[in-house]
Amino acid sequence: MAEALFLGVDVGSTTAKAVLLDAAGAELGTAMCPTGHDPRAAAARLRGELLSGHPGAGQVRTVATGYGRALVDYAAQTVTEITCHARGVRHLHPDARTILDIGGQDSKVIRLDEAGLVQDFAMNDRCAAGTGAFLDVIAARFGRNLADLAALHKLRPEPLEVSSTCVVFAETEVVSLLSQGKKLEDVLAGVHRAIARRAAATLKQLRATEPLYFSGGVALNETLRLELESVLGMPVRRSNRPQLTAAYGAALLAAPTRREETSR
Ligand code: ADP
Repeated sequence: MAEALFLGVDVGSTTAKAVLLDAAGAELGTAMCPTGHDPRAAAARLRGELLSGHPGAGQVRTVATGYGRALVDYAAQTVTEITCHARGVRHLHPDARTILDIGGQDSKVIRLDEAGLVQDFAMNDRCAAGTGAFLDVIAARFGRNLADLAALHKLRPEPLEVSSTCVVFAETEVVSLLSQGKKLEDVLAGVHRAIARRAAATLKQLRATEPLYFSGGVALNETLRLELESVLGMPVRRSNRPQLTAAYGAALLAAPTRREETSR
């Protein structure tokens, strides 16, 4: 019997995400939960949330992506995040030519050709600086939450220089700036500028072309998006529902006609 439902599951380093589509590609539901210490359990939870009691639950085809994709035991296939992000962003934004994705523990730049196929990409998964982990550590350390950081730009801060290229040293540098009496918002703005500069260097290396879409959970941070625009000197558009783009791409790739797009 042909599958009637298509499930994309993205088991990320911090958050597991899922998107359920019907055979016509219409969205039936989305779910997210922390990945925690048991990616297999997180994936099972998302499946349960989206499919329990669903009349088509017996005919679902799943594609898994993300760092924990091999642990999604109900998946028919696993596909790399690069392919899934490209597919998801391009579906949501057909004009996209470059994608900057910043997640919890890695960042990627993907360049697409006119047809939406991956032309080139670069990935940083070796260092927490330049990823969501940097912002998570800094927010927790200084008693702020992610929403505070996202809204920081409204305070019109004057970003200070944060030059350390390592999260551990950057934290020390931030403490040192505060002990000199610098304002917390100016220091935090400096952290955003440092992340934006890192991303900009990779984007320039890959000769990023417009339109550029920003995805991943960190794209929810408006302060960073604005800082990226200022550092790059080009528009940076936030992807529609940025944290779900890879799961969206995986769900699209789960449909039979899209199975051929899994080479990278
Ligand atoms: P992964 O796939 O690696 O789990 P995600 O793309 O899900 O990563 O992004 C997770 C990151 O997104 C977190 O580390 C956090 O910094 C950031 N994030 C999540 N929600 C928000 C929010 N509401 N505002 C700003 N940043 C956010």
